[in-house]
Amino acid sequence: MPLSQNVAKVPFYVLATNTMRDLEVSVLRAALQVRTHMQGEEQQDLVQGTSVHAAAMRVRNLKRAFAEVERNFDRLPTVLGEWPTLSDKVHSIHDRWNVVRLQAASLVRIAPDEFVSVPAPLRLATIDFDPAALSPAGRLARSFDSNVAMLTGDIETMIDVLSTDVKARLLEGQVTNERVFGLTFTLGLMAIIFIMYVNLRLARYVVDPVNGIVEAITRFRRGDYSARTGIARKDEIGALAEAFNEMAENIERTHADLSQLTERDPLTGMLNRRGFDPRLDLHLRKAESAGHEMAIIMVDVDHFKKINDTYGHAVGDQVLVALADTIRNCLRAGDFSARLGGEEFVICLPGQGQTTGASVAERLREAVARMALFDNEGRAFSVTISAGVSTFPECGRSQGEILARGDEALYVAKSYGRNRVELAKPDRKWRKSA
Ligand code: GH3
Ligand code: MG
Ligand code: MG
Repeated sequence: MPLSQNVAKVPFYVLATNTMRDLEVSVLRAALQVRTHMQGEEQQDLVQGTSVHAAAMRVRNLKRAFAEVERNFDRLPTVLGEWPTLSDKVHSIHDRWNVVRLQAASLVRIAPDEFVSVPAPLRLATIDFDPAALSPAGRLARSFDSNVAMLTGDIETMIDVLSTDVKARLLEGQVTNERVFGLTFTLGLMAIIFIMYVNLRLARYVVDPVNGIVEAITRFRRGDYSARTGIARKDEIGALAEAFNEMAENIERTHADLSQLTERDPLTGMLNRRGFDPRLDLHLRKAESAGHEMAIIMVDVDHFKKINDTYGHAVGDQVLVALADTIRNCLRAGDFSARLGGEEFVICLPGQGQTTGASVAERLREAVARMALFDNEGRAFSVTISAGVSTFPECGRSQGEILARGDEALYVAKSYGRNRVELAKPDRKWRKSA
């Protein structure tokens, strides 16, 4: 039974024990009145005519005391309603009370000379009397006292029963309460674990994607313009990720446009020096780490000044555009070229050595020579180029060295009469070709 229900019993217990105590006290008071009456009768007999009024008072007190006991007995069924098992005991003490009442009635009517002269204490049960020495009235008085003592003893026993019962209930309530506390504690612990689990899930659901966005932003800040979040969700985090991706997309496009502007030659669309250098550097490092070769072809239009002078600068530009196209047509995937300035071009052939470099340069020289060019009046003319081929790693390991060797080979070609290809040699001896 829960503690609260057992605690609720306490007021009944207090009421019941109070009533029992009232009953006990009223019984003792009634017994006292019986004694007082008996002694009063005795004194009245000794001192003749003392007080008729005092006698009347004693009778009245006697009746009141007995009525009080009866009232307390009447209250018992109500106040002991919570303890139905005590009803037998109530009947038994009431029966004894009836005996006491009848004995008292006899005693108060007995003549004083028949009474024991020694004043007896109220609870005579433990006092040793010799029944034979007593008069019949004395024996009745002793039996009366004995019954009063047993009656009050029974009432005390009932109070003990009540007290034991309430203590047991409170103890049981405490145990139940401890169980309830244990259950509450377990539920609390489970609630805490549940909250921690929810927090963990929340962390996975919120913190991880946010970390993903932060990581993408960090990569982007370090120059990786292809960084995206890879988060596709239809909530606020998804919106944030999408907004970042869109922004990154725009910046990457703008960056590409700017690169196009700064790294490309507007006339031919080829890489310029700014675009070419880092690419060449990257391929050189790749070739170095992979142990591959790489060929570089330096190209310069022969007597280009004369073309400008003859056909005009605009026609000269068209020649440069046509030459750029021819160069592109000679290249394979993975090769790249650039306009280094004026009428000078460079071609890079990653993974190729001197032989391939020389043959590509030669093929280009022939293709340029075959280009059909027309001036403003529609008259056909042609141009030639000279080329110098330099290779990694034979001619040098750095970008500067390789380009310098290619330039040297180119000027050798010029010096040998132009419209030709020269190979740079590690031993710096130039070999004619074509
Ligand atoms: P060489 O055979 O020795 O190379 O003679 P070259 O005349 O080609 O050499 P030079 O360096 O003397 O002349 C290069 C000319 O290229 C000079 C310059 O006016 C011209 N040039 C440079 N850039 C451009 C350009 O963008 N467009 C045009 N049309 N001409 C240019
Ligand atoms: Mg030239
Ligand atoms: Mg030149």
